[in-house]
Amino acid sequence: MITLSDRRAWSALPPVLADVLDRALSGETLDADDGYVLIRADPAYLSEIVATAGALRDGGRGRTITYSRKVFFPLTNLCRDKCGYCTFAKAPKDPDAKTMDRDEVRAVAAAGRAAGCKEALFSLGERPEERYALARAQLRTLGHTKTNDYLFEMCETVFDETGLIPHTNARRDEPLRSGAPSGDQRLDGIDAGEHQRPPS
Ligand code: SF4
Repeated sequence: MITLSDRRAWSALPPVLADVLDRALSGETLDADDGYVLIRADPAYLSEIVATAGALRDGGRGRTITYSRKVFFPLTNLCRDKCGYCTFAKAPKDPDAKTMDRDEVRAVAAAGRAAGCKEALFSLGERPEERYALARAQLRTLGHTKTNDYLFEMCETVFDETGLIPHTNARRDEPLRSGAPSGDQRLDGIDAGEHQRPPS
C-alpha cells in the first residue's frame, strides 16, 4: 500500500520518474517512453518502483496466486522451422531428436495423473513432415500423414484415459484434423506458443 506520505516522499525522485509512477498509480496506461524511464532509473530508486508495482498488483488482481499442475509432453522436437532463439527443436541427425510414440504418451499421462496434474501440455515442432523424411516415416508408422492429426489423436487419448485437459502450442492457422468430432471442444484452451509466428 502506498500512502500519501510515501507519495510526498517522491519529491526526492527525479521528476520524470516520479511523474511516471504517479500516472501509473492514477490508472494511466504507460507507453514505451515511460517504460524506458523505468528501465533506466537509478537502482537507488528501485524500492519506489517496486512499491508502485506492488500497489498496482494489489489493486488489480490482489495477492492470490493460482496455478494448475501440468505434465509436459514434448510430442516431437522435429520442426520444419529454424528460429534462431529456439533450443527445443532438433534436426533428425541430432541424438536428442525425439518423437513420442503412443505408449510413451500414455505412460507420461498416467504418471502425470498419479502426480495430481490437471492439464496436459503438448509441446511440439511445427509440421516437421513438410521438411524431413524421418518425420514423414514416423507419422506413417503411427498411421498419420500430418503431425497435427497425431497431436489431435494424442490429446483425445490423454483426455479420455486420464481426464487431463490438453493444451498445445500448435499453430491455429491449420485446423487439427478437418471434420474433427467434439474433441475440438477439449482443445479450445490451445495456447499460441512462442512459435506462433516463426521467422522462417
Ligand atoms: S517453430 Fe517453434 S519449435 Fe520450431 S524452431 Fe521455431 S520456436 Fe523452435
